[in-house]
Amino acid sequence: MIPVQGYAGRKVAVLGLGRSGRATAAALIAGGATPLVWDDSAVAREAAEADGLDICDLTKAGAFEDVAALIVSPGIPHLYPAPNPVIAAAWDADVPVDNDIGLFFRSFATDDWDGFDSTPRVIAVTGSNGKSTTAALIHHILIENGRAAQLAGNIGRGVLDIDPAHDGEVVVLELSSYQTDLARSLTPDVAVWTNLSPDHLDRHAGMGGYFAAKRRLFAEGGPDRAVIGVDEVEGRYIANQLIEGAQDDRVIRVSSGQKLAGQGWSVFARKGFLSEFRKGRQVGSIDLRDIAGLPGAHNHQNACAAYAACRTLGLGPKGIEAALRSFGGLPHRSQIVATHAGVTYVNDSKATNVDSASKALQAFSKIRWICGGLQKEGGLDGLLPHMGSVTKAYVIGREAESFARQLTGAETEVCGAMDEAVARAMADAQDGDVVLLAPAAASFDQYDSFEKRGEDFIHCVQGAIS
Ligand code: ADP
Repeated sequence: MIPVQGYAGRKVAVLGLGRSGRATAAALIAGGATPLVWDDSAVAREAAEADGLDICDLTKAGAFEDVAALIVSPGIPHLYPAPNPVIAAAWDADVPVDNDIGLFFRSFATDDWDGFDSTPRVIAVTGSNGKSTTAALIHHILIENGRAAQLAGNIGRGVLDIDPAHDGEVVVLELSSYQTDLARSLTPDVAVWTNLSPDHLDRHAGMGGYFAAKRRLFAEGGPDRAVIGVDEVEGRYIANQLIEGAQDDRVIRVSSGQKLAGQGWSVFARKGFLSEFRKGRQVGSIDLRDIAGLPGAHNHQNACAAYAACRTLGLGPKGIEAALRSFGGLPHRSQIVATHAGVTYVNDSKATNVDSASKALQAFSKIRWICGGLQKEGGLDGLLPHMGSVTKAYVIGREAESFARQLTGAETEVCGAMDEAVARAMADAQDGDVVLLAPAAASFDQYDSFEKRGEDFIHCVQGAIS
């Protein structure tokens, strides 16, 4: 655990008692503060009380008297579509609002560090898609190369839950837009931007707010190095804002698809080959095509970003390449779950938005595509250019009919539930086909999470082939 610094002997309010809220309360106690915790759910409050935490109704008038800060969980809106009333009350009482990420950055460095040979570093990854894969890949590369590393944030453990850093250790954080938006300290040594496409627009009042929330990772703390995907204008804009000139190698530009010219530092993948250029010369190259854990151009983008982040820490291309080859991939992201009668079954349940699903459609061909769920703002038009690789779509979810109607140019069948979709796709599939779950929608109309949806897909596939 990272004991929270700066609040010893003071009261700190904690709103939201999920995984991060509970870890925050424990880390505050370890730092000598008194957390006053609250959650709208009585079940969550009872569990916290059973753990010995002080429940304090933060919705009551005067709740913020003598309170030094309010720490908010990422699931609670602080601005759009409307601020949570507890957060608005903290503003009115002039109580600083922060989150566990802000507490982490103000508490990570300790006095022990004076005796370290090599200062611990933080690599923080943000972007719309590929954050988990990139963060997990960086962590994997570091471990495989004998470097001490921990993985936390939106993946794995909560940030305050990790162990205090050892000499030379690296902490890899995955940060969502909700987390970067609110944190009062954001000071990673290396910041990584994967890409940007529409998502969570209701929480950020549109694309501008969503971009602004993520951009804070680069604008607030001034990382020593920034690894930036430049395949969208937003990435190019951030890269330009950070550089002093053409040779400035504090920024490493990353692309999937474009050859990046120029005198700076860049890592890009084209036709399955990763290339690293620095000061106009090629200094590294890797054939990514047969790496089973990283299929498709989108994963090649992740490989480039992870490679670049590890290069900033002084790792050599050969060691990174060996680790890329041994990366097994993450569950629910382009995960091959079975091959049966010449048909490959792929679980990409984490494709919860149009961009990630369209990347999955580009990564495979002859696809029997299971899609649908709770549709997000922005429409499905981004999927339509990729219908050429889809033999037929099997649409699930409560809104399956309207979802199917929007997939113009594709043969569709409304299935409703997963078991029916798997059974229909399996019955139709021919040798060489890929049955792909890549919903392009959230799961909450039928499941508690994308993980549950992916597990159901695997269960249906395995049940049918055994
Ligand atoms: P995040 O943590 O940003 O949600 P994940 O690594 O969990 O990212 O992947 C989320 C979804 O996006 C999965 O469907 C995955 O296959 C897809 N994906 C992974 N990397 C990329 C990328 N670089 N660009 C677009 N989609 C991606």
